[in-house]
Amino acid sequence: MPSLASKLEVLGATCAFDISAPVREIRKSLYQSGTLGMRLESPVRSRVELLDKTAECCIYPTVTGGVSGRKTKPIFKALLSNACSYSCKYCFTHCTRQKVTFTPEEYARIYAQFVQQGKVTGVFISSGILKGDPDYTTELMLKAVSLIRGKYNFEGYVHFKCLPGVSYDLLREAALLANRISVNLEAPSADRLALIAEEKDFQRDLITRQEWIRDLIFKGAFDSGHTTQFVVGASGESDEEILSRVDWEYKHVGLHRAYYSGFTPLKGTPLEHQPETPAVREHQLYMADFLLRQYRIPFQEFRQIFTKTGLLPKGDPKLHLAREFFDPHETIDVNEAPHDLLIRVPGIGLRTAQKILTMREQHQLIKNARQLHEIGVNLGKSLPFLSIQRHRQQSLDVYF
Ligand code: SF4
Repeated sequence: MPSLASKLEVLGATCAFDISAPVREIRKSLYQSGTLGMRLESPVRSRVELLDKTAECCIYPTVTGGVSGRKTKPIFKALLSNACSYSCKYCFTHCTRQKVTFTPEEYARIYAQFVQQGKVTGVFISSGILKGDPDYTTELMLKAVSLIRGKYNFEGYVHFKCLPGVSYDLLREAALLANRISVNLEAPSADRLALIAEEKDFQRDLITRQEWIRDLIFKGAFDSGHTTQFVVGASGESDEEILSRVDWEYKHVGLHRAYYSGFTPLKGTPLEHQPETPAVREHQLYMADFLLRQYRIPFQEFRQIFTKTGLLPKGDPKLHLAREFFDPHETIDVNEAPHDLLIRVPGIGLRTAQKILTMREQHQLIKNARQLHEIGVNLGKSLPFLSIQRHRQQSLDVYF
């Protein structure tokens, strides 16, 4: 019978694969060690007193809030169980020697101890699918969260992972208890998902659940957003396929945001010989996603910049989009351009565009580049697209 501490080390470590935080380094160290439950070299490692024993587990600094109010919360993430009966080809469960499951009471008690010791302010609960039954597993997860909310009186942040195929009533119950729900698509389409996760039906088990969450939000049963995750590169998909799906998700199921986890081949999995997805691809998807979600750049415009294989071109997607969007013979005058045009200029972000508009409202015209530089505009990027008081700037020297 594994001790509580050893369960925590295994289930806390395996949750690194279920991301909504930058955990690439952690996943890599798991892969390199070839074992789970080892001590992780991680900047977010933490120790906790469990009855008579000290255990080690990861705390995840998770970013919450929008552009204007970003906060980082220390989040406890541990699977309820890694004894999953599904066989997703990219998944760590193929190479986990030790299969362990917390009881709901154990999970809640450990979490309460983390809170009491001031180590975390929120929890992310997920699990492998026990007995091939998402409802059975979700009931255990719900019991753990109910104990956290009820017996331990915790009112803070709870992120609940919706298991594929879970029933509507249980999903609704989760929505009532949680602050955030996620349904991980992992791949952008039914065909792609079938290549890597044969037990999951893309439409029935995932999209339908996202539609239920959208409807629950609409009815007021749940007021926080839902998220998803992609294992980038696992199914041979292109960036175009992923971003097309994400665009659809933002428009049709009210997705709050997407996470991109570059595929890492794990020893012992059917995909162990598939190449690792370069970190830069993950990073570029995040940048493109930000442009879709926050700048509301239409997905159709991205179609003009994808490479022949459907990948984002090297470099900043905003710069590539700007080259297509703006007439190369025209410039944008910072004192006259509307908000929608200002934010399209590389080097001008949402906040700096707002600052320019505020100055304009206060009749403070921008007269030189030093002023732009001081409010945060990246002159190197914006230079080819801008003019100030109708003068196009030819070089940075002219600005200063
Ligand atoms: S459902 Fe798939 S990805 Fe999730 S734990 Fe089971 S095998 Fe892994």
